[in-house]
Amino acid sequence: MSLPSWCPPYSSRKTGVNGEDVYCICKNPDNGDLMVGCDGCDDWFHFKCLKIPETYRKLVYSFHCPYCEAGITGPASQGANDLPKTIWKRKCRLDYCYNPCQSNSKYCSGEHGEEYMRTMLAKVEIPGLQHDAQLQLFKDMANYHKNDSTAEQFQQIGNEEFIHDEPKDQDSLYAEIVRDDKRLMELQDNVKELGEKTIPATKAGLDTLSKYLKWLEEINVKLALRGDLNLGEDATNGTSTNARGKNKKKFNKAKAKQRNCICGYDPDFQIPCGVDEFVSEYSPDLPHVKGICVKVRCSKHSSWATMQLEEQEQQLSSLESYQTRLELLIRMRKEQLHIHYYEQLLRRKD
Ligand SMILES: [Zn+2]
Ligand SMILES: [Zn+2]
Ligand SMILES: [Zn+2]
Ligand SMILES: [Zn+2]
Repeated sequence: MSLPSWCPPYSSRKTGVNGEDVYCICKNPDNGDLMVGCDGCDDWFHFKCLKIPETYRKLVYSFHCPYCEAGITGPASQGANDLPKTIWKRKCRLDYCYNPCQSNSKYCSGEHGEEYMRTMLAKVEIPGLQHDAQLQLFKDMANYHKNDSTAEQFQQIGNEEFIHDEPKDQDSLYAEIVRDDKRLMELQDNVKELGEKTIPATKAGLDTLSKYLKWLEEINVKLALRGDLNLGEDATNGTSTNARGKNKKKFNKAKAKQRNCICGYDPDFQIPCGVDEFVSEYSPDLPHVKGICVKVRCSKHSSWATMQLEEQEQQLSSLESYQTRLELLIRMRKEQLHIHYYEQLLRRKD
């Protein structure tokens, strides 16, 4: 990546004309404006100068400045293969809210989850439900993944009254009312996109990460056996697995030992070579091997593996629960349209 057109060329200058500390691409002192620290070069940058809206202040997960992203400073200037990128936390699903999501959620808070579901449900208008019952339903939908019984209760709502089955003789009236309904098509498109693209892509990403972590673990074990690292006795006995849950437990347990492991951070989790080749190129005084950070007790990427794994698992479970909700919304919309269809049919016969 090259520097954006608005960014001045790099200068290593750290002091102004009066000897004061200066920062950022603007080489001005800290004037109290909102700033963010770069994980690549340890300089500080004004949100304004970088053209990042201040509303994003809580969404920075790992920031890299334009110079580090261009490889002028930071890891890429010291031999890393890949240019670093700024990583953002997932934003609350409500358009106007810029808080990061809570774990296991698409929203920053339960209130915003309810508000989002309210706007979604307003699109499907459930007939026959009183206002209070609707409100309770929104709450249930926003929270139900925390409590399985609520999901079942939710599915029970209105089961007896509504018509599920597609009518046998589908005519032009059916097409007009049900099949070509814009809201229904929109919901069906969303659920299709989720099931065929977004969720498989997220699963593939998680799989890549798991394989990478397994590879890294083997390297740490081999380095320990070679005497380069001190992992403690039982770290060399564990068998590896790339099953989601098991990996997580393993890494939580291994947290204490991580202090004596190589960092292994790579932004893309791409395995560059076999374990033995990597181990043979490793030497304790190198900062990177094949673009991968090999610092022991690396403070810059401290516990990146657990954070990444948790983040990706959360994302997957949020997507899956969103998929379930969409399927329920589709069913409700269909039921409503079927009622409307039968009403019209009866009116014609009169
Ligand atoms: Zn600035
Ligand atoms: Zn930087
Ligand atoms: Zn929010
Ligand atoms: Zn590191």
